[in-house]
Amino acid sequence: MSTKPLDTAKLRAELDGTLVLPEEPGWDEARQAWQLAVDQHPDAVVLATTTADVVATVNAARTAGLRVAAQSTGHNAAPLGPLAGTVLLRTSGMTDISVDPVTATARVGAGAHWGAVTAAVALHGLAGLAGTSDDVGVVGYTVGGGLPWLGRAHGLAANHVLSADVVTADGVLRHIDAASDPELFWAIRGGGGSFAVVTALELSLVPVPDLHGGTLFFPLERAAKVLTTWREWTAFVPPEITSLGRLLRFPPMPEIPEPVRGGSFAVVEVVSLLGQSATDRLLEPLRELGPVMDTVRPSGPADLGLIHMDPPGPVPATGDGFLLADLTPETLDAFLSVTGPDADVSLLTTEIRHLGGALAPDPSRGGAVTGFDARYVVFSAALTPDEETVKAAHVLLDRLRDALWLLGPRRSPT
Ligand SMILES: Cc1cc2nc3c(=O)[nH]c(=O)nc-3n(C[C@H](O)[C@H](O)[C@H](O)COP(=O)(O)OP(=O)(O)OC[C@H]3O[C@@H](n4cnc5c(N)ncnc54)[C@H](O)[C@@H]3O)c2cc1C
Repeated sequence: MSTKPLDTAKLRAELDGTLVLPEEPGWDEARQAWQLAVDQHPDAVVLATTTADVVATVNAARTAGLRVAAQSTGHNAAPLGPLAGTVLLRTSGMTDISVDPVTATARVGAGAHWGAVTAAVALHGLAGLAGTSDDVGVVGYTVGGGLPWLGRAHGLAANHVLSADVVTADGVLRHIDAASDPELFWAIRGGGGSFAVVTALELSLVPVPDLHGGTLFFPLERAAKVLTTWREWTAFVPPEITSLGRLLRFPPMPEIPEPVRGGSFAVVEVVSLLGQSATDRLLEPLRELGPVMDTVRPSGPADLGLIHMDPPGPVPATGDGFLLADLTPETLDAFLSVTGPDADVSLLTTEIRHLGGALAPDPSRGGAVTGFDARYVVFSAALTPDEETVKAAHVLLDRLRDALWLLGPRRSPT
């Protein structure tokens, strides 16, 4: 609850960006998250365009006894809830990106999406530690850890933060790194967005000369054979290969391109840093299964954003994820019993990502999350346009979690 009203006239006068209040024109657009299943009702929204806007917003909210929630895209809006007593600070207007190819670093504003950063750094033969989706915000993704396509070779995105510009709750802009503010710098590398508003991150980039990526598609009915082969395959592939096994049930929506529209598949998605011949050799056991479609090919960094077929724009979705200590034959059986071809489920996607390699925890890297003490991570999601489908999705997600957790040591949710 606020102790005194937000001084909207003063804040408006201080902003380069825009303050939007309930009932004002643009209110619904300003409060709308990417995640359409979430209905946000903050006390006010600031559409920030500069660092000074962030400072002014934090000071105004603190004076009024309100919280500040930083949000770029709103991909992860669900955990924030309805936002009563909160000023929602949208950073989507702070999209500055600068690249230094000599030091292989980039400075990325709080509103930059991965797609824009990948395009900017790819011009120099470099890549950032992006995940599967181009329109996820770099800052929100990275402060939460950031599980990237190149993760088994290069670790989490949070391990690649060199410094950050942040505004702390006292309204002070600080440039922090491991030497100047070790504790706050530790916290923002995997600890989430509650410690300060990040206005920009400085990130280290990686060279990607021999990148290959793509997907092997199989009919869903072959899921047991495909995922068993993939499971055995993950036991020996080197860290230059990151992959996931996945069950997909595409709805017959016009937004979904042919030839996958309305189809159901078991797929293996692969990214390799090994070059053509080594990648082809390693893929043999999977290709021997006879995929109906094989898109693995020489790739640039921008191609990686297409592999996972994430939605290109806002959707209503409900998902959940958790770590798996191991993927035994019994665990895979349990996975298939809940989501396999014989299960009648409305889940759009259920995937198992391979961890290990540079994704193993390493405290010497110095962030709140340096890796995962687990060999796999499961993530599943359904499209949920209304309350009924949200409830049904939660039932299925709980069933999946219960089936898999009973079989092994429990791990914290991702
Ligand atoms: C389609 C899709 C694909 C995904 N793929 C991957 C993947 O491959 N790997 C992976 O690790 N994750 C993935 N994610 C999860 C994604 O990384 C998280 O949802 C992430 O939090 C999104 O960041 P955002 O800024 O886009 O979202 P937002 O909802 O805008 O932000 C999420 C949170 O980040 C924090 N935050 C955002 N901006 C700031 C800021 N300026 N200062 C301080 N804190 C801030 C806040 O706590 C905020 O609530 C995916 C999500 C989706 C929807």
